[in-house]
Amino acid sequence: MNGLIAGNWKMNGTLASARTLAQGIAERISGRVAKSTGSLPEVVLCPPAPLLSVVGGSVAGRSVMLGAQDCHQDVKGAHTGDVSAVLLAECGCRYVIVGHSERRTDHGETDDLVRRKASAVRDAGLIPIICVGETEKERDQGVTAAVIARQMAGSVPRQSQAATTVIAYEPVWAIGTGRTPTVAEIEDVHSQIRALFDGAHGHGAALRILYGGSVKGSNASQVLAAKGVNGALVGGASLDLDDFWRIITACPI
Ligand code: PEP
Repeated sequence: MNGLIAGNWKMNGTLASARTLAQGIAERISGRVAKSTGSLPEVVLCPPAPLLSVVGGSVAGRSVMLGAQDCHQDVKGAHTGDVSAVLLAECGCRYVIVGHSERRTDHGETDDLVRRKASAVRDAGLIPIICVGETEKERDQGVTAAVIARQMAGSVPRQSQAATTVIAYEPVWAIGTGRTPTVAEIEDVHSQIRALFDGAHGHGAALRILYGGSVKGSNASQVLAAKGVNGALVGGASLDLDDFWRIITACPI
């Protein structure tokens, strides 16, 4: 299974900066491919929706995929300000992040809503990156496993298949804080997620599970070498070309 590095730009970037960053990543990837200096993981850029077209144009024909940060659960309708997965597919997206903790917190998104969004993504022929993860309080209370089990049961559509689903384990307390769990803690949760997926949907061994939360060039090798980690969902560091490149090249294929 190929590794996956996804950059979640969140609400950052302008037309000009998005073009520069996307072109920079695409050029480094093309340069590496041209020189045949080793394989790279799959790379996905998830800019804010209005920047999808400029980023898509900048990476067209290169080995870089386009992703969105969220979508509505319906195909169309009276939903001011929302975007459907079908439209994101038309705009060239291959992936859609759903259930990011910032959506769960800022917009009150529940497991049930996340599951419906993930279904909409799948129905549009795209791959959902479904985020799960405990808060600091939940980790301190020792209920991480219960929280992950609840989120997996509630957020992952019943008909999901390993080849067309990605789960991102993102401890909420590690996002944007510079703190990360230990490798053993990451391995524990990834192994739990794989077993839960296997039990509910089968083929758990083929499921890609990303780690997300303060991944940087400086810790990427350690995190990405952890057992059961198939890539990373990267926030802040994905906005810095050099740092993001260090993460991409640290990912075992
Ligand atoms: C994220 O928001 O998905 C994330 C992992 O952020 P950061 O890398 O900045 O912690």
